[in-house]
Amino acid sequence: MSNRICELFNVRYPIIQGGMIWCSGWRLASAVSNEGGLGIIGSGSMYPEVLDEHISKCKSATNKPFAVNLPMLYPDIDKHIETIIKHKVPIVFTSAGNPKTYTSYLKQHNITVVHVVSSVKFALKAQEAGVDAVVAEGFEAGGHNGRDETTTLCLIPMVSKAIQVPLIAAGGIGTGRAILAAMNLGAEGVQMGSRFVASEESSAHEGFKQKVIEASEGDTLLTLKELTPVRLLKNPFFDEVVEAYKNCASQEELIKLLGRGRAKKGMFEGDLKEGELEIGQVSGLLDNVLPVKTIFQEILDEYHIALNEQHNTKFLF
Ligand code: NDP
Ligand code: NDP
Repeated sequence: MSNRICELFNVRYPIIQGGMIWCSGWRLASAVSNEGGLGIIGSGSMYPEVLDEHISKCKSATNKPFAVNLPMLYPDIDKHIETIIKHKVPIVFTSAGNPKTYTSYLKQHNITVVHVVSSVKFALKAQEAGVDAVVAEGFEAGGHNGRDETTTLCLIPMVSKAIQVPLIAAGGIGTGRAILAAMNLGAEGVQMGSRFVASEESSAHEGFKQKVIEASEGDTLLTLKELTPVRLLKNPFFDEVVEAYKNCASQEELIKLLGRGRAKKGMFEGDLKEGELEIGQVSGLLDNVLPVKTIFQEILDEYHIALNEQHNTKFLF
């Protein structure tokens, strides 16, 4: 596999790990990069000194390229940017904000910039801002999500038709067959979050990882659209949100119910009742917490089997 995404990031496989709050620290990022993909440190949940520490540890654990995900609504974003520049991190994935704000500044420092979007409109805006590639993330994805609810199957061909810069597909991709499907739809790379949450190297709490692999079809839903839409696993906190909607809760009441630090409580501290458990629909397909090395072996084997089947399929209609 070599294409524009492999060349842009200087990686062997166009397989990128999602920069997920509380789940993707240096250990996961370096393990993914060491397998030939692109590992990402999720900086959204890290205080500036924690990000500094994770970048240093990642550099010691791999000599391959890795990236940092920078959610643009992070309160201390300027400090994160200083840290990224200080450490000469080669690649930044920006999300949840306007790509015009930081793209040219990061690029002046020789950083490759990728922006995460959920619609054609935002993909065009990112391209216009000068990003090197775009991640288009469909409705299946875990955590924070677009408002339009466009599925990956529809979003990828639409974005692929609209932009010239390389496209990375995200949302619902957790297997080799899904990677091939995304490539067939026009993507040149994939970003996988949920599959890597359920890895040994993810910094998520063990209780959360178990809950993820036990999840079945229908166990996640997109909610809190009036705040920031987010896909969550159903649990007692989720039931409270449903109850609040039944009682026609106002936006202020929803903000109050959510409170502060719910994501940390659920995903990092393992409070499976009161915490926010962000994961994608593909959790219904995951049965094991595996080392990153095994995840790569499995998805690459499946990708090659599916590719062979595709080549051997007779023209059906
Ligand atoms: P620490 O260096 O504090 O490690 C704590 C202990 O946990 C060590 O014994 C370490 O093992 C072990 N450990 C941590 N993660 C794993 C793992 N995935 N698998 C097996 N053992 C593990 O933690 P880190 O270096 O991982 O992180 C540094 C700091 O960053 C910590 O304060 C942590 O709380 C924080 N952090 C924040 C995240 C966020 O999203 N905000 C995500 C991850 C961590 P060993 O002795 O082998 O190093
Ligand atoms: P909350 O406001 O509920 O809580 C903030 C959490 O972030 C706390 O758990 C806090 O850790 C931690 N944190 C890390 N650095 C800082 C800092 N500089 N100032 C304040 N808190 C900090 O936010 P959420 O848990 O819902 O979201 C956490 C982060 O996720 C957001 O700040 C944002 O960066 C990111 N995010 C990303 C999105 C995206 O990429 N699409 C969308 C929405 C959020 P502690 O509890 O230890 O104080």
